[in-house]
Amino acid sequence: MKSYDAVVIGGGPAGMTAALYLLRAGVKVLMIEKLSPGGQVLMTAEIENYPGFPKGLQGWELADKFAAHLDEYELDRISDEVRSITIGNSVHTISVGDEEVQTKTIILATGSRYRKLGVPGEERLLGRGVSYCALCDGNFFRDRDVAVVGGGNSALEEALYLARLVNKVYLIHRREDFRGLQCYQDKCFTHEKIEIIRNTVIDEIQGADDLETLALRNVSTDETSQLKLDGTFIFIGFEPIMDYVPDDVAKESNGVVTDVEMRTNVPGVFAAGDIRAKMCRQVASAVGDGATAATAAFTYLEQLGD
Ligand SMILES: Cc1cc2nc3c(=O)[nH]c(=O)nc-3n(C[C@H](O)[C@H](O)[C@H](O)COP(=O)(O)OP(=O)(O)OC[C@H]3O[C@@H](n4cnc5c(N)ncnc54)[C@H](O)[C@@H]3O)c2cc1C
Repeated sequence: MKSYDAVVIGGGPAGMTAALYLLRAGVKVLMIEKLSPGGQVLMTAEIENYPGFPKGLQGWELADKFAAHLDEYELDRISDEVRSITIGNSVHTISVGDEEVQTKTIILATGSRYRKLGVPGEERLLGRGVSYCALCDGNFFRDRDVAVVGGGNSALEEALYLARLVNKVYLIHRREDFRGLQCYQDKCFTHEKIEIIRNTVIDEIQGADDLETLALRNVSTDETSQLKLDGTFIFIGFEPIMDYVPDDVAKESNGVVTDVEMRTNVPGVFAAGDIRAKMCRQVASAVGDGATAATAAFTYLEQLGD
């Protein structure tokens, strides 16, 4: 069985930063990523708020820059999904694909996945009008009518991205007020292609083979209506990916619990990025978490000695 000083699980901004910091400190590192490195950044059309890029840049461009930085170092990689972790006294065992690896420290950086609406039709019409990624699927709806569901930054950003491609965007939010940043709200509210539908929920996503209509309900008046369109993009938040994290590690519903140094309650196990129980889920905070977790892991390894 291969053994490492540090295993980073997840190759998003948090995981890639943690791996970079550990490698630069001379630690033997394995990074396990089930898809291509980049994480959610690869699903993001444009990133406008990552410092150092005042004109913004495409999500894939930023992911490429992170990956290129890591290419400078000797990093072991496994492209597969971590299934479970067994906590030991000073060495932990990770089950990934068909193999097992041992490590003194683990950095959990598997990020988060989109939250579903949980309404009839959502699962059935996934990929046939229902989407959670404007960047991936927006092109299929060129010059057609779509809805974006949600009131946070992701919903507003993606509504603006889709408005460049499609004929019309209905921005549907269950509340009166939006949570997203004022600068995104201002752009959406004044955009000629975006129509705002407030205080409204989706009761059902309907269509025989492909999405045809949304059954809407105004939560203030209880009035129901049907909205005919071609696509619906759902951005109502994220939930941390921690199915593989054992019960030994303290978790809350919104993520793995850490202290300010990214240490979990289990010695040698750290968490960084969107997987953590925290408020700010952004690239900048994921990168900061990754650097902090790596520094704490390095200090832990030094204290452990040989
Ligand atoms: C549509 C959208 C728009 C966004 N816009 C912005 C923006 O403009 N600005 C901004 O700062 N942030 C934005 N974000 C948020 C930002 O992308 C995330 O906060 C950030 O990517 C979190 O980084 P992370 O490394 O913690 O997790 P992630 O980026 O989620 O990366 C986690 C990685 O872990 C891998 N993984 C998961 N489970 C396993 C497993 N069991 N085994 C192995 N690998 C696994 C995943 O494949 C993934 O690559 C946006 C997100 C989305 C979805």
